[in-house]
Order: sequence, then C-alpha cells, then structure tokens
Amino acid sequence: MPHIVRITTFVGHFTQWCKAMQRNMDKSDFDLTAQNQQTGSKIVASLERIAQAFRVLLWEESKMFSLSPIQVQVLIFLLHHSEEKRKVSYLAEEFNMTKATISDTVKTLEQKKLITKAYEQHDTRSYIIHLTKKGEDIAAKTSFFTKEIRTPVDKLHPDDKENLLLSLISIIRHLNRSGVITIQRMCMTCSYYQSSGKGQKHFCKLLNQNLHAADLRVDCPEHQMKYE
Ligand code: SF4
Repeated sequence: MPHIVRITTFVGHFTQWCKAMQRNMDKSDFDLTAQNQQTGSKIVASLERIAQAFRVLLWEESKMFSLSPIQVQVLIFLLHHSEEKRKVSYLAEEFNMTKATISDTVKTLEQKKLITKAYEQHDTRSYIIHLTKKGEDIAAKTSFFTKEIRTPVDKLHPDDKENLLLSLISIIRHLNRSGVITIQRMCMTCSYYQSSGKGQKHFCKLLNQNLHAADLRVDCPEHQMKYE
C-alpha cells in the first residue's frame, strides 16, 4: 500500500511539473518568471544581449568614420571576400536586405570614394565592387569592432569553445533552413562535407581530410552550396 501511495504521489508531481513546463513553453522568452525556470529561454535572452553588444560596438566604430553600420559591414565583407561575392545581388542576400537598399549603400560608399565599380563586359548593368585604398584602410580598422566579444571567448576552455561552436552552428543551420537568414557558407551546408558516426565525425572531400569540431568553418572561401 505505501508503494502505491508513493507512486501516485510521484505521478501527481510529475504531471504538475509537465503542466508547468507546458505553461512556460507558451510564454515569451522575455517573461521573467518563465525565463528563470528554463535554460532555453535564458540562452535565447543571452544571445539577444550579445546581439545588442554587436550592434553597440558596430555603431561606435561606424560613428568614428562617419559611416552607417551597414556601410561598415559592407566594407568589411568586401575586404574579406572574393570577386564573385562582391556584387549587389550577393550582398543583398548576405545581409538579408533588398537590392535597392544595398545599391543605395554602394552608391554612398562610391561618393565617399571608398569603393569603385567595375562593370562586367557581358552585362553592363552588373558590376564587381572593389575597395579603394581609403576603403581598404577603413575596412581593416573597423573589422576589429568585435574584439571585446572575442576577449571572453578566447578565455574559454578549448572543449567549451568546441561545444559552443557546434551549438552555434546548429542554431545558424536551423535559422537558415527556416528561412530567417539566407546565405550560409559553413561546412554543414557544403557539398564537400560528409559526416559519419551519427554526425560526430566530419570530413571535407575538397581538403581530403577529417575535420575536428574546431576545424568546422562558418565562412569558408571554398564552400559549395549543397542543395538538399
Ligand atoms: S570546402 Fe570548406 S565548407 Fe566545404 S566541407 Fe570543406 S572546409 Fe567545410
């Protein structure tokens, strides 16, 4: 008989806990009562804080050069990516903006003598964007706007860094699949990528080598989109 009472009590507690969890799942990640009971919500709220830090740091850097945050982001992108990616249509997808908005940004950067346009022979409406010397200098300087975020990341234990990288890749992949963000140039979306061992082992067919978790790339110059 005491056994039955204990089991009934346990089932009662478990049912209440499940109902409480379900109620919390229906609440916003910013509802503090629900947030403080759920690790997932705390992680989402933390990511939002970090996104805010990126915005603040980028804004500070932009102000120093009398540029807007998107102008700085475009300059940094141009500095580190190859010619086929330095076009209005690619930039529009990269930054999840319309071509018109990116064209305006490019026009302003041209007026400020930070970029030049090289029109393509086969299509005179299309052009490759090149940084001028002045544009290159500003892009190189502003590209360090993330250093305050890098400092605590560098202090993490290597295992924690790997786990964090894998978790972030998985979040980015979900956001990409659900259409929230567009272009991704990371291993998991690359046609050269192979995984085995229930996703624990990674291999790059282009480099012909195994990739440890820390070797996985989030922006690879050789990336070829895999269409699933
Ligand atoms: S080519 Fe680059 S993105 Fe593709 S699997 Fe190899 S390392 Fe990863």
